[in-house]
Amino acid sequence: MTRSSSKRNRRHVSDDEGEESAAGPSTSKRARPSPDVSGAVELDPEGDAIFAFKNPDSASDETIKFLVSSKVLSLASPVFCKMFSPQFQEGTRVRNGERPCIDLEEDDPTAMNVILRILHFQSDDISFDLSRAEFASIAVHSDKYDCRRALRGWVRGWWHANEFDAMFDLTSEEVGLTLLAAYMFRFTSLPRLAADAAKHLKPDFLGKWQEHETISLLPETLKVAVHTWLADGVDYVQGRLQAIEGSLLRPGKGYLVPFSWECLHCGKLFEYGDGPADMKCSCGRTVVERYCTTQSRVCDYLNILRLVGLHHSFQPFKTLSILQIAIFVKEISGYRHTHICQGKERCPLVVQLRDLCLEVDHRLDLMNVERFECVGLGSKVTT
Ligand SMILES: [Zn+2]
Ligand SMILES: [Zn+2]
Repeated sequence: MTRSSSKRNRRHVSDDEGEESAAGPSTSKRARPSPDVSGAVELDPEGDAIFAFKNPDSASDETIKFLVSSKVLSLASPVFCKMFSPQFQEGTRVRNGERPCIDLEEDDPTAMNVILRILHFQSDDISFDLSRAEFASIAVHSDKYDCRRALRGWVRGWWHANEFDAMFDLTSEEVGLTLLAAYMFRFTSLPRLAADAAKHLKPDFLGKWQEHETISLLPETLKVAVHTWLADGVDYVQGRLQAIEGSLLRPGKGYLVPFSWECLHCGKLFEYGDGPADMKCSCGRTVVERYCTTQSRVCDYLNILRLVGLHHSFQPFKTLSILQIAIFVKEISGYRHTHICQGKERCPLVVQLRDLCLEVDHRLDLMNVERFECVGLGSKVTT
């Protein structure tokens, strides 16, 4: 049973709805349906039950009603089949021709409108253009009433028409809603989607997911797996950036920087062909040839971090996705082409910047599907 199954039992049949069967409850003969359907949407004009949903736009207890066919719904969904079986009050009343009004006030009427219309072949006005929230809500109700198979073609259409698997530039909530829909519809691609989602989520996503009424339905194992990977990834990049600084601080060989001079007194740099005409700085001191040294490399490295906004104490690690951080890292490593010294590819700064990009790319590659195949998704995912 799914989490939502407990909700199913909370529905009840309104005592003041439906007419008493002319033939009485003791006979098996079905009574004529009542013509009074109280403004219900007639999904089946000959329907034998009414579903009532709370109208979210109404301050009062106004409901939205649908006249439905218990037979059609029973064919589409084992949950409805059970609801309309003789073992349940609803089923008995349908058999007695009472046309019961079944209160489903916890359900989202918009999602149920779509589902019920499709199940009753009244889908002319159903759009393929859904928001992620609408798609997720349909998925949740599809799972609740176990009618995923009956909706299969539509689900494929929605998924592909809306490119729901593209996570780029989505908010953490939108990513969560997409994963939830994939989970509720039991997509076999769920592990791949989870891996992709983890790359696009912001570090504070978990709190937003937990507070979100719908997204919080995602299994804890999946949420924890995504969160753990993301936190590990961010820690890794931050640690790597700090490690580079430590490595550059180690005393190393100095290399001449060609066509570059500096004034050791005031720090002024000269970078043109023949150097200052008289090898004198404007402060009057003699300039000397410039060297790439331990100190200058650390200085250059920290400047590069600041330039791309990724100094390890900066805010980005608290606000950016791991993919966005990786883009900054690529920018960092690109700076190695601007550093010229006679050490060339042996210069410690060049070596570190080159390796950094490769290592972060490799780390992202480790964010693979297998990571999410064994996180207790259980029987929800089928092949
Ligand atoms: Zn000077
Ligand atoms: Zn160098």
